[in-house]
Amino acid sequence: RETGTIGGNLMVDTRCFFLNQSAFWRKSLGYCLKAEGDCCHVVPQKEICYATYSSDMGPGLMVLGASLHFEGPGGSRDVPLTEFYIDEGRDRFHLKPGEILTQINLPKDIDEWTTGYRKLRLRDTMDFPAMGAAIAVKQDADRAISDLRIAICGVSMAPLYLTEVAEKFIGETATSDVLDKLAEETMNATQPKKNLVVPTRYRKKMVRVYTRRLLGDLMGEEAVATLRI
Ligand code: SF4
Repeated sequence: RETGTIGGNLMVDTRCFFLNQSAFWRKSLGYCLKAEGDCCHVVPQKEICYATYSSDMGPGLMVLGASLHFEGPGGSRDVPLTEFYIDEGRDRFHLKPGEILTQINLPKDIDEWTTGYRKLRLRDTMDFPAMGAAIAVKQDADRAISDLRIAICGVSMAPLYLTEVAEKFIGETATSDVLDKLAEETMNATQPKKNLVVPTRYRKKMVRVYTRRLLGDLMGEEAVATLRI
């Protein structure tokens, strides 16, 4: 806690309120797939852990096009951050035995992007995201979106990199209506699970609200007056 690193944050453990409790509390309910048990209390079944990806750095570096460099017993390798994570709350990412993250590389074009990150959290100081939205955008002089990347954390077992949603809006002029629609489609692509203290429906709505506010900030919109929660 006193010496946090970017790499450590990228690989922070997934979170779930059925797991982040005392051993006494968890024993009284019955253990779960992620520790000592054989079923999930969030989605009762025996195959998948739905614990939530909770790194702020993951989506932020994803939209910048970061890649990770690993050294290990089998040699070195580079992995795009968008391909590093696994949709499983226990396995979490593609890390081979004995490998260590030694570099985080960013492409040379990062200065060409306008980027930002907005985060829903319970405490205003240090806290894990109950939902986080990162966006990188390039715009033409006439406000048309020439390139766009969106990544959302806190709503799934891995950060969601929403290529399909983003690509639909490339070429569109960034009017308030277009940004409303983009935020709506981003929200529709998410499906939070009931495993954080902040309720599921609220987190989903906040995907739209936070994404919309961030889009307005990044694209120079002064006020987002039409937003309905
Ligand atoms: Fe356990 Fe299910 Fe929570 Fe995973 S999502 S930590 S298996 S209760």
